[in-house]
Order: sequence, then C-alpha cells, then structure tokens
Amino acid sequence: MREVLDSAAFIQGPAVGQFAAELGEYLGGAHVIPCANGTDALTLALMNLNLPTGAEVITPAFTYVATLEAAALLGLRPVLVDVLPDTFNVDPAAVEAAITPRTGAIVAVHLFGQCADLETLRSISTRHGMALIEDNAQALGATFRFGDGETAFAGAVGAVGTTSFFPSKNLGGLGDGGALLTRDAERAALLHQLANHGQSQKYYHQCIGLNSRLDTLQAALLRVKLRQLPHNTAARQAVAARYDAALAAVPGIAIPARDARSSHVFHQYTIQVEDGSRRDALQLFLQKCGVPTMIYYPLPVHAQPAYAYLGYQAGKFPVAERLCGAVLSLPIHPLLTAEQQEYVIVRISEFFGQ
Ligand SMILES: *Cc1c(COP(=O)(O)O)cnc(C)c1O
Repeated sequence: MREVLDSAAFIQGPAVGQFAAELGEYLGGAHVIPCANGTDALTLALMNLNLPTGAEVITPAFTYVATLEAAALLGLRPVLVDVLPDTFNVDPAAVEAAITPRTGAIVAVHLFGQCADLETLRSISTRHGMALIEDNAQALGATFRFGDGETAFAGAVGAVGTTSFFPSKNLGGLGDGGALLTRDAERAALLHQLANHGQSQKYYHQCIGLNSRLDTLQAALLRVKLRQLPHNTAARQAVAARYDAALAAVPGIAIPARDARSSHVFHQYTIQVEDGSRRDALQLFLQKCGVPTMIYYPLPVHAQPAYAYLGYQAGKFPVAERLCGAVLSLPIHPLLTAEQQEYVIVRISEFFGQ
C-alpha cells in the first residue's frame, strides 16, 4: 500500500493485474477480471450474455438480494426457485422445472461457503444451451468434485463466476472490491472491456460498459491477504469442525449439512433452530451473553417490497420461507480462539437445557 501511495497509480496500477494473475493461479488457472464489487460482477456477467430485455434469469429465493438485483436492473426478469432444506443451496430440480423458452441464464449461489450442486446444474445448462453463472461471493477457494473425478474451483465451472472482496468475505479488502472468473480467454477480454467503459484501448469504445474497477490500494492489500487465504480457510474449517462436534448432539438444533462432493470454506456457520419460534429467543439470549450472531437472511427475496412486482405469493417457496425463520449464523472467523468458541458452545447448550 505504501508503494501504491508513493507511485500515485491509484487507478489500474500494476497491483491490480498482479492480484488478478495471482488469484487466477490460485483458482486453477482461471482468468480473473477485477471490478468494483460483487454486485457489479453479477451485472457485468449478465451484460456479457447480451440477453434480450425481459429474458428470464433463474436465481434461488434464499440468497443475498444482489443476486437478482443485477438482473432486475438490466431489464431482465428474475425467476425464483426454492432451495434444498439441508445445504441451503438452489434445488436443481426446481431450476429445471423453471426453464421456459424465455430463460436466458441460471445464476447459482454457493451459499455460506459450500458449492451448489454443480454437477446437475452444469448438465442442465449444457442440455438447455444456456449460461450458468456462479455467484461465488461466499465460497472463494471451495472446490467441487464431479462424478468423473474432475475437481474444479467454485466460480470456475460455469460460463462466468463472480466474487466479492467486501471486508467480511473470506478474502476481504479494506473496502469494496469484486472480480469475475472465467476459463474462456475471449470472454475474459470482453469482460475486461465491459468493466472499463467498454473500451478496447483508451478512448476507443466497443460496447456500453460500466466504470467498475478495483482500486490499486485494495489490490495491493488483497495480494497480501490472498497468501493467507489457504491458512484462513483451514482456520475457519477447524472452527466449523469444533462446532460440529459440540453441537451435533444438542437437541433442538441442526448443524449445517455437508455435501460430500464439495469442500466447505465456511463463510458462515449456520445452524437451524428446529422449533423456529425459539430462534429469535436464542439470538437474544446469546446477545445478552455477549455473543453476536446474524440471521442470513431474515426475509426471502420474493417477500421484499422491491420484488413484489414479480408477483410471488407467500407460500410459494416453502423451504426458503422456513429457513428465514430458522437459521442463525454463529461467530466464525480465522481468529476465533478455542476459548471464545467454547463460551459460545456452552451458552447455546445452556439455552437448550443441556
Ligand atoms: C456479498 C454478496 C454479493 C455482493 O457483493 P458486494 O461486493 O457487496 O457487491 C453478492 N452475492 C452474494 C451471495 C453475496 O454474499
């Protein structure tokens, strides 16, 4: 960061390209196109597909709003589908059932750090000839093993993957940041153009683009933090394993399900409180004990006023709706000490009378 300050190359300085190359190498040789944030990455991924206005984009009903916001802003129609009750990830059967002649893309989200069913989603997208976009804001570094033995990094399977360097993400900056991933060199060049005013060279514009760039200062910091990512991921996984061991036997809660085909980088460690009516009481109890928890997400996207125009009624996505009332994300980060974690575990057990 000192070097960047001294050089004053705040926009598109050398660290941006260096970071992109290093992240690409880490992700098994993908092309990485940095941009301003994860939401822009989704917007740019959809812009790159050149879909006609009103084309349908299938997204899960249980996700962060940015996943469909990008589609809605571009005049595309988000089509929501329900998720699976155990992994929280999009239900591939529901995706397939939602496909119409107007479907333009499928956006899968690797929620909380574990890959969606990339095997089935990839085969659906191939069979129907439509792009699979992976919203990988929460699972950077996770891998998925296909039935044929191939292993791939989350975000590098579909036509385009997107990610975010929002400070709380697994690879977080000191502000906003994001990136697109693709294995296709030609697509990578077009995405670069789109993120930089649609220009092929300075002042020559091939298409209508965005001004969406990763600051050089953020890139310089992210280069250093990328080197710590494997260690930090392992630390998150160790925290998750300790929660699993301690909480599996506590009646009244369900620990997060693991998909054997995916590694889990535990952006969140999210339990379900089986009697949903006690979830808020547990959160309040923990808050009083000094344990912060979060609810990702309290309201499914179809119940948000902004998306009422899509016309979905309550009851349409029963799993997403139930999860919003049952999930609770516990403290998890690479610096959580065993002692702090033990305190969280003891308090949760106490709440359930253990
Ligand atoms: C964080 C997040 C985004 C948006 O990323 P920003 O960098 O905050 O724009 C998109 N999708 C998911 C699933 C996220 O968790």
